[in-house]
Amino acid sequence: MIINARMATFIDSFDTGNGAFLQELEKRAKNEQVPIIRPAMQSLLKLLLTVKRPERILEVGTAIGFSALLMSEYVPESCHITTIEKYEKRIPVAKENFLRAGKEKQITLLEGDAMEILKELEGPYDFIFMDAAKGQYIHFLPEVFRLLEKGGLLVSDNVLQEGELIESRFAVTRRNRTIHARMRDYLYTLKHHPQLVTDILPVGDGVTVSVKL
Ligand code: SAH
Ligand code: MG
Repeated sequence: MIINARMATFIDSFDTGNGAFLQELEKRAKNEQVPIIRPAMQSLLKLLLTVKRPERILEVGTAIGFSALLMSEYVPESCHITTIEKYEKRIPVAKENFLRAGKEKQITLLEGDAMEILKELEGPYDFIFMDAAKGQYIHFLPEVFRLLEKGGLLVSDNVLQEGELIESRFAVTRRNRTIHARMRDYLYTLKHHPQLVTDILPVGDGVTVSVKL
């Protein structure tokens, strides 16, 4: 937990939630331990999408399709969403969910490692949602930056490592040290990039919102 748990619960208590389909999907994700965006992040995405009204979204990390489907409800009808997933067990589940929701035309799932797929993509995208393996964000960034349109938004989830990011690297378990170093590097790079304006928000599990100049 990054912010005070009572404050997080208080803020979440005002949330009006989602429709039946997404609610069911969220429940299923919880049961099957599929990590999906939290209510605070859902709420921030809804806000950003409503302001931005993107036409081409790229998502890195589909899981079972929850966030892609959520995003599809807050964009113009003409907006297309491309989402990348490499985990074979989750790909068919995501596809089936897109079909069941009647969104199979609006959402395209690209199967494979984002590092390879990003290189092949052409773009530009006016909204990119990064929600894959935290330790890889810094490696995805050059391609993601190339694919992002000027004025486009890059939103990255889980950037504060459950709050662990503020601890000294020596206080972090060896297992998490690589992610710790790479995520600090990612935040530094986003904040110091001459063509990006970035804010680091203590929302959910930590979020950055960047705009390309
Ligand atoms: N955005 C989803 C949750 C994504 S969880 C939602 O909120 O509904 C992160 C997903 O990223 C996992 O399913 C994982 O398999 C995938 N992932 C991690 N590294 C990846 C990579 N290099 N290429 C493609 N997918 C990746
Ligand atoms: Mg996430």
